[in-house]
Amino acid sequence: MDTIAAIATPIGSGAIGVVRISGPMALDIAARVFDPDPRELPSNTARHGRLVAPDAQDELDDAVITVFRAPASYTGEDVVEISCHGGLSTVKAALQAVLDAGARLANPGEFTQRAFLAGKIDLAQAEAVNDLIRARTDDARKVALRQLEGELSARVAAINSRVLGAIAAIEAAIDFPDDVAEPDFEWLQSEIAAARKDVDALAASFGRGRIYREGLRVVITGRVNVGKSSLLNALLRHARAIVTPIPGTTRDLIEESLEIEGIPIVAIDTAGLRETDDPVESIGVELTRRSIDSADVVCLVIDAAQGLHDEDRALIEQMSGRPVVLVANKVDLAAPYSPSAAEGVGGRSFESDLPTVLTSALTGEGIEELECKIAGIAGATGAGSEGALVSNVRHQQALKSASESLACALETLAAGAPIDLLSGDLSAARNALGLVTGETATEDLLDRIFAEFCIGK
Ligand code: GDP
Repeated sequence: MDTIAAIATPIGSGAIGVVRISGPMALDIAARVFDPDPRELPSNTARHGRLVAPDAQDELDDAVITVFRAPASYTGEDVVEISCHGGLSTVKAALQAVLDAGARLANPGEFTQRAFLAGKIDLAQAEAVNDLIRARTDDARKVALRQLEGELSARVAAINSRVLGAIAAIEAAIDFPDDVAEPDFEWLQSEIAAARKDVDALAASFGRGRIYREGLRVVITGRVNVGKSSLLNALLRHARAIVTPIPGTTRDLIEESLEIEGIPIVAIDTAGLRETDDPVESIGVELTRRSIDSADVVCLVIDAAQGLHDEDRALIEQMSGRPVVLVANKVDLAAPYSPSAAEGVGGRSFESDLPTVLTSALTGEGIEELECKIAGIAGATGAGSEGALVSNVRHQQALKSASESLACALETLAAGAPIDLLSGDLSAARNALGLVTGETATEDLLDRIFAEFCIGK
């Protein structure tokens, strides 16, 4: 097994930068670049000293070394962390020294992959490490932390052991027909049904969990010039915490990340949906249509000063059945506006039954109310970190597939088929559940998952 090394802190200037080393040679490599000799340190201790280039003995920095001996370390291997001054040049020099001393540069997520392979954490926990690093709000952090602490894994393990119990009872009866009686029909049925119910309950928490992991998708659409971009900017300015863009999301439309009442939001400003013959514009319209299809909330913006256009009416019609807020923007121009004049402006007076908010992207009026409406729709879709255990689409798919296999097993049982016909479906369910915790994950799948991690984690 190679000894790997990487910079574990963000690249840039900071008080401290950390180079992490893991593997069988970690202590020997560290001994070539650090004085005093870290091999003499007991496990889980830190020591101040001199960081030097191997052999050359050039002093690189004044640093602190921390030693975690196998197996009591993150990866289960010998791990050494060198905390040096956090300037780019110092951290790079520290990494170079460690590489020159015999370590190999780690791949993305390779430390966590080693922790998984050593059985320190299962796959769901490993993925939670990445979610935790990427968590942008308190609630997102809580969902990831609970997964890291093994809550999801424990629930999946409990279901798995129920399914295993059923498989064992069936296989014992098949293998030893003279000694072991066939399992009781009702017992089998209740075990499989209970397992399926638990799988479905877990899968159902995905709607809530996904929002905390990926953000609630709020799509802002409407005619040209009604103030869509201005509204997005107004939301961003008002946002309590502006969070950095979520990696991997499409950049074809303008997407911004923000937070409303603790809910991470991905707000998407679209080109609008008008009919067009222009090929370039029609690409934009197609993107808009797709983003509306995947939206959790659509903000359909109209110009309050101009009232409803035919084009607005057409858009409102297209929104039927979707979670929409009608945003009547530019109320500052809709003078004289007063609640008593709401006949012409507010409430449902825009001839639609959609929930309506009056805003001015210019003055900020109504922006808070719009946020409340968006949070309200998020709440109605069940968003809330409470009970959200499944936040990862990969886990969701595995659970769905487990549920389908268990449903097939229940059908086979109800049809009065011989019990050995159940084994296939029950094993398929176990396999699917094992994908969540990683027991049945292929090497290819593992590589793909860890490739999404950052280097140094
Ligand atoms: P979009 O094409 O829908 O994205 O519209 P923009 O955000 O680019 O806005 C079009 C124009 O309307 C710009 O000149 C904005 O300054 C103006 N505008 C946007 N919102 C408001 C508003 O609430 N009040 C007023 N008076 N002007 C606005």
